[in-house]
Amino acid sequence: MMSRLILVVAVLAAGVGLYFGLVQQAGSPEVAETVAFEPSVGLIDDERIKNAESEPGNWLSYGRTYDERRFSPLTQINRETVGGLSLAWYKDMGTNRAQESTPIVVDDTMFFTSSWSRVFAVDAKTGDTLWSYDPKVPGEWARRACCDVVNRGAAVYRGRVYVGSLDGRLIALDAATGAELWSVDTIIDRDRFYTITGAPRVANGKVFIGNGGAEFGVRGYVTAYDAETGDQLWRFFTVPGDPSLPFEHPEMEVAAKTWKGGNWWEIGGGGTVWNAIVYDPDFNSLYIGVGNGAPWTRVIRSPGGGDNLFLSSIVALDADTGSMKWYYQTTPGDNWDYTAVQDMALADMEVDGMMRKVLLQAPKNGFFYVIDRQDGKLLRANPYATVNWATHVDLESGRPVENPELDYLEEANWVLPGPLGAHNWQAMSVDVEAGLVYIPAQDNPLIFGMSEEWKQTGVYKRDPGRWNTGLEFGAFTQTLLENIESMPTPKGYLTAFDPLTGESPWTVEIPHYWNGGVVATAGGLVFQGDALGMFKAYDKATGEVLWEFNTYTSMLAPPITFEVDGEQYVSILTGTGGADMFSGEPLPPVAEHASLTYNNFGRLLVFKLGGEEILPVPTKRDRSIPVQPMLTASVDQIADGERHYGNYCASCHGLVARSGGVIPDLRVMGEEKHQIFNQVVLEGLLAQRGMAAFDDVLSEESVTNIHHYVRARAEEDRLFAAGEIEAPQLTWLGGE
Ligand code: CA
Repeated sequence: MMSRLILVVAVLAAGVGLYFGLVQQAGSPEVAETVAFEPSVGLIDDERIKNAESEPGNWLSYGRTYDERRFSPLTQINRETVGGLSLAWYKDMGTNRAQESTPIVVDDTMFFTSSWSRVFAVDAKTGDTLWSYDPKVPGEWARRACCDVVNRGAAVYRGRVYVGSLDGRLIALDAATGAELWSVDTIIDRDRFYTITGAPRVANGKVFIGNGGAEFGVRGYVTAYDAETGDQLWRFFTVPGDPSLPFEHPEMEVAAKTWKGGNWWEIGGGGTVWNAIVYDPDFNSLYIGVGNGAPWTRVIRSPGGGDNLFLSSIVALDADTGSMKWYYQTTPGDNWDYTAVQDMALADMEVDGMMRKVLLQAPKNGFFYVIDRQDGKLLRANPYATVNWATHVDLESGRPVENPELDYLEEANWVLPGPLGAHNWQAMSVDVEAGLVYIPAQDNPLIFGMSEEWKQTGVYKRDPGRWNTGLEFGAFTQTLLENIESMPTPKGYLTAFDPLTGESPWTVEIPHYWNGGVVATAGGLVFQGDALGMFKAYDKATGEVLWEFNTYTSMLAPPITFEVDGEQYVSILTGTGGADMFSGEPLPPVAEHASLTYNNFGRLLVFKLGGEEILPVPTKRDRSIPVQPMLTASVDQIADGERHYGNYCASCHGLVARSGGVIPDLRVMGEEKHQIFNQVVLEGLLAQRGMAAFDDVLSEESVTNIHHYVRARAEEDRLFAAGEIEAPQLTWLGGE
């Protein structure tokens, strides 16, 4: 453990190191291999991460250990003592964008990331900032991110901290000072909307990182860089590129045979590796979770059929060379945004009387996969949530059996899981001893239907400025209202799940579907923060709530637990957002989430037994809608605005112009904002704050019509709240 004295030295040394950091940028990166953190951070190496179980007080890598099971052996906070858990300290992140980071704790220092890819190193006992680093991502880059300006974490290794920035750089920092040592551009085509939101992983002197961007139409890949120098060592593409060009590596020749017809390389392809990358010391393998197809609809992407490898797959690579060992495709011919990028955990388990080294994953598609890590053989695939797109997974062939009634080529259908997944990136926890996995799951449907344009012409034109899913997002509200009667009820739950039998010993329902990741402990607890702002400890044997704390903010990030100087701590970052564009004033019985009621406070909260810090109680937001200036717009104009709003604005500002509380709610704009509306949308007046210009895709007339639509929506919600109308009509596309 680092003593208090050494910590003081570390703070003082930070200034010196910063100076070194600035000097070294001109030449020798080695110079900044500093000082104060040795022998703790400086010595985080492969051996130490491989043996992470021997230092249970630390949280040395993204999923705590290379196994990424997120199960802590700590027991001081347990079923008997958890009632005495209270706030030790908290830190405001100065932002109300979503927080998704898993901190790394090394001895008494905590490293974590925040929105806009900012990095912090703090004293884990007090929250005092040792250093912070801002990669200065341009504000307008927010438009290029499907799901908020988030970051899921950093890696700490050999005296350095590695972070991927939203605008696609992989950056190495001096762990002692935060000084930038090197930065490389990971993006192969900067005209396409690539991002990084995931945490890098480290092993064997390498740093591994993928990208996001499939919704906008990009081609996925993962890259290994030299941890010391930043030199690129290998790159594995997940989907084939332009067939007129040579294959980048032999696996692309295999993959290309499963794409038929169409022009996927122009419209995207997809398969981004935006989250799970797991190193397996047992086989020196790197498992990558591959994302959905771009566009979502396979008939556009690959009209001749085919599995479209390696979409929605788990791919095992040789960690040293990047060559493929095996793959398992969870969703052949993905048609529903069913990424297989969700966290993967490694374990040794007895399966059918034989000890096996297995990989565990609960991807979006609703089935929980148990796969042999040696050869990729599928051992189990039980549903862990409500699934209607497939009846089951055939273990012999390893393929799901699709439900033909849910095909949406001709008519729209509610599909479960929806694109938010039955489980998303919010971490699960694997409890090997109990044989259970604790999963933050949801039943959250989407109505899938082909776009009118495609139905009428059979032609799909990629629009570089927006989500390219193949679905009709512009008319989404109309489709939703026409099919509202048959909508399955969205719900969230925390479930204890046996991956071998498919049974759930307990399940706890949560009033909102979009909740946080979990950590379980040998103290018998499962911790989770939820959409209602409640941070809870559940009894891992029964699901009974043993402790809860009101943070007044919705949570997505996974809690972690660690120990400093003999005291156990539990921490969590608060602040929701991400991909949930339906979160604004959700339809009952889904409850309103805390960040909508209060605010989306980006904070790090740290708890211990007998903590004495008090969290301020916020007042509720004023969500009253001002009277709108008189409208002089025709129904056609408002309908045109609605279509554009659905295509370009809804993914951030919320469906039907009701914001989920993260991005500004356009219905409450004051007169001064109305005055500058066109300048904001067309000229980028607020680009620095994250609202980029859209003049490349929207005309002045379209923006004026969006403005009409927003005012019309605002006015009917205001009248409804005042009891002056029976119900808002929500859509104008029907022509009334
Ligand atoms: Ca996606």
